[in-house]
Amino acid sequence: MRVLKGIGVFKGIAFGKFRMLQKSDFNIQKKAIENLEKEIARYRDANEIVLKELDKLYQKAMETVGDDEAMIFQIHQMMLKDIDFVSCIEETIKNEMVNAEYSVHKACEKFSQLFSSMEDSYMKERASDVKDISYKLILTLGNVSEDNKYKKVNSNLFCIVGADDLTPGETLQMDKTNVRGFATIQGSSNSHTAILARTMNIPAVVGLGSQLKPEYDGCEMIVDGFSGTVYINPDITTVKRLKKKKELCDHQNELLQSLKGKANITKDGKTVKIYANVGSPADLDGVIKNDAGGIGLFRSEFLYLRRNNYPSEEEQFKVYKSAAIKMKDKPIIIRTMDIGADKKADYFDLPCEANPAMGYRAIRICLDRPLIFKTQLRAIYRASAFGKISLMFPMIISREEVARAKEIAREVREELDRENIAYDKGVKIGVMIETPAAVMISDELAKEVDFFSIGTNDLTQYTLAIDRQNNKISGMYNPYHRAVIRMIKIVIDNAHKNGIWVGICGELAADESLTGIFLAMGVDELSMSAPFVLGIRKKMLEIDVDEIKDQILSEIEF
Ligand code: PEP
Ligand code: MG
Repeated sequence: MRVLKGIGVFKGIAFGKFRMLQKSDFNIQKKAIENLEKEIARYRDANEIVLKELDKLYQKAMETVGDDEAMIFQIHQMMLKDIDFVSCIEETIKNEMVNAEYSVHKACEKFSQLFSSMEDSYMKERASDVKDISYKLILTLGNVSEDNKYKKVNSNLFCIVGADDLTPGETLQMDKTNVRGFATIQGSSNSHTAILARTMNIPAVVGLGSQLKPEYDGCEMIVDGFSGTVYINPDITTVKRLKKKKELCDHQNELLQSLKGKANITKDGKTVKIYANVGSPADLDGVIKNDAGGIGLFRSEFLYLRRNNYPSEEEQFKVYKSAAIKMKDKPIIIRTMDIGADKKADYFDLPCEANPAMGYRAIRICLDRPLIFKTQLRAIYRASAFGKISLMFPMIISREEVARAKEIAREVREELDRENIAYDKGVKIGVMIETPAAVMISDELAKEVDFFSIGTNDLTQYTLAIDRQNNKISGMYNPYHRAVIRMIKIVIDNAHKNGIWVGICGELAADESLTGIFLAMGVDELSMSAPFVLGIRKKMLEIDVDEIKDQILSEIEF
């Protein structure tokens, strides 16, 4: 048995035969050509075919995994048309009088090495995209069906797919009913494989490096996504141990399934809304599958990240609209962009700051650059005609900020009225309570808005003065601190005194050890990553709020 250590990106255990997908499965030969024009035409035809295929993949991805994931196919199309890439291939054909397959292979080596050597992690990851498009070109030139490659996966029940790094194109072409797990050489928690594995609920370990060898192809494998471990030809004891772990995990998940369609109700009849947090359209299926009542936090930043320019109103509108349609009558709370601090986009040209978490971010940028803000608000309001959308502003510290943000929202509505563009006139407006200032004036803020959502991730950071990104002091980042818990109580009381509802959308919302406390305090909504929804529903069913309330409240009283 061999034990490999990598990064677990989706929790779960998978057993299966290892199938390594290799791009170097071809034997690319350098062949002399006689007819230059014919060879160039052959290459150009293949390029056209691949562009059309990518278009189909783009459409398929839009339908199955959403805009964010689909965008990669547009990037691939751009790469295929890139003047440097194209002329590198054509020059090789011309100067060396050699075949197109070899010329593509040569360009692939050159450009993938170029991207790999770049410092920027986003650019580094483009190396696998160059390999992906070159691979498709070579397949097309050779008139070989790509199905051949996937036969390896599609004809094997219960296999664990291994690769250098899986691209979205490859993953979409696999018959996923056979795939039990992923194990890859490259990849980080933000790589395509990681994102897709989470979307597809498939246990995955990435970043295994040279430990993962092609010669393991055909071996028995276990992927433990909890600990980021991969076992090759596991011994009996390991198989037994991990089977038990898997059974326990499966059993718990099965039990939770029976709670679908059930109410979020405590023993003594108290109900609370349980919603899900969403970081991209790919997460929407999980919201439905896990029976969340709605989306309590739609983090809109994904629309601004990993790109070179601001997303247009139309682009944003399309994303919000399809989310609204998909969620049908379930509410969606869209948080306006929280760019800044750890979420940087170069084209925003943000200043270098000593304390970015306390700097120019979120609503501060929006109020300072109202055009960017208005574009987003227009897109959100337009999408509101297709579902049940609410607006939420992050990082609020004053009543004036809320008033200004609402004024801009009103201007946007007036513009839409003048242009005869439909929107929901009843869109509710809320704010995130994630700074101590917002907590302390929550009585005033409650008079300005329709709801509050407590962002305990930032509230903990700002209350304790502990940077949530700083590993050196991460042991001191304590969201259970009495100061944080008391702040939550202050906010809930002030919201209720002023007749508005209040939720929690930070990570604490999914913490079962606090469910009783939150219910005793009277929270109205909890919003969390979708896979936690049924677990919290189960926890609620076990709680009698009346029984625990007095004791809990006396413990946090001040
Ligand atoms: C929070 O701060 O708790 C929150 C939900 O927002 P984010 O984690 O996106 O900053
Ligand atoms: Mg926050």
